[in-house]
Amino acid sequence: MGSDSRRHFLAGIAATDPALAQVFENESRRQQNQIELIASENLVSRAVLDALGSHLTNKTVEGYPGKRFHGGAEFVDVAERLAIERTCELFGSRFANVQPHSGTQANQAVFLALLEPGDTILSLSLSAGGHLSHGAPPNMSGKWFDVVHYGVHSETCLIDYSQAERLAAECRPKLLIAGGSAYPREIDFERFRRIADRAGARMLVDMAHFAGLVAAGVHSSPVHLADVVTCTTTKTLRGPRGGLIMSNDEALAKRIDSAVFPGMQGSVHLSTVAAKAVCLGEALTPSFRDYGRQVLANARALAAELVSNDLNVVTGGTDTHLLLLDLRSRDLTGIEAENALAAVDITCNKNPIPFDPPAPSKWSGLRLGVSAGTTRAFGSQEFAEIGAVIAGRLTGTMKEEEGRKRVAALCQRFPVYRHRLR
Ligand SMILES: *Cc1c(COP(=O)(O)O)cnc(C)c1O
Repeated sequence: MGSDSRRHFLAGIAATDPALAQVFENESRRQQNQIELIASENLVSRAVLDALGSHLTNKTVEGYPGKRFHGGAEFVDVAERLAIERTCELFGSRFANVQPHSGTQANQAVFLALLEPGDTILSLSLSAGGHLSHGAPPNMSGKWFDVVHYGVHSETCLIDYSQAERLAAECRPKLLIAGGSAYPREIDFERFRRIADRAGARMLVDMAHFAGLVAAGVHSSPVHLADVVTCTTTKTLRGPRGGLIMSNDEALAKRIDSAVFPGMQGSVHLSTVAAKAVCLGEALTPSFRDYGRQVLANARALAAELVSNDLNVVTGGTDTHLLLLDLRSRDLTGIEAENALAAVDITCNKNPIPFDPPAPSKWSGLRLGVSAGTTRAFGSQEFAEIGAVIAGRLTGTMKEEEGRKRVAALCQRFPVYRHRLR
């Protein structure tokens, strides 16, 4: 037993589980050797990785700091309090819950706090860039609530606020949701506040994608306008996988806390909560503002290069880290384009564009995001180069081999961390 327990505490994964160690090694190489354009992704700091792999994972607590159901929480309470304080400081909210295991669960907790089954929610439709957790039929939100969707204008592809207002007056939703996962432009939160007020609805802004841009001060903030704001810590915020919920009303914040625990979740994922505190601390530094500015500059450089090569960018550009290519004029589907770019080591995802049919095989969009590449220190020049390779491959003017060579050259010049084999 003595030597067994020594091995348990000291042996790293390379010694104990070569099959998994190989997965880590391969994934680490992939992240080094491919250009990551999936808009939901980012590359967390070494400090965030440290938090995720920390001893905090051993600790079980339920409840909130100072009011736990288990003993021994004096140190982990500091971590959760820091995450809460930093969320409030970063976004200017009065209250925060940092326990949701994901963005989807953050939204579900809000629904549990504010809605009864059968209530009506009004949200952006999936094909216009909405999110699964905002009432898509296979999701719990779609099964338990009466869901009405607003969309975008057929010509501009910008949110149709008049339609949202009309629908709100008709269906009197209990909850109006703003935010999505493939909408490239800033959202008019004041307009949505007025629409919600007129309809007597609560307003939820899900800023999963652009939270990091709000934190960096390069995107308008919904926090003083919405009743509740949710986000992931994963995407532009550059932290661990997980969610946050913010609000400014004490009674509402209490209901949200009860909805997260004991309503939706059990014990806290403390290493993740600590990692959230770390990424929030990073987001409070001046260098994160520089990061946010560079994200916007890079997204615009990429969009400009694509447009100048006769590719169609939905809404003509972007105000965020992401943009949507409309491939219909190229006679390509999203999946074909995704595969063509995968062949030159550029990773991205097919996506519906507004008014696309629901079947993923028929989608004619490609979603591209610059958050991970910007973390890697790609600047506007590099994103113009990436745009040239994408355009070359999608218009058939660049050979696959040349595309691969140019991607490899970029990846080599901008190293990411190597996997730690302990
Ligand atoms: C990504 C995303 C989420 C969900 O995040 P998960 O952590 O993957 O559950 C929720 N809402 C929106 C708008 C998103 O883009």
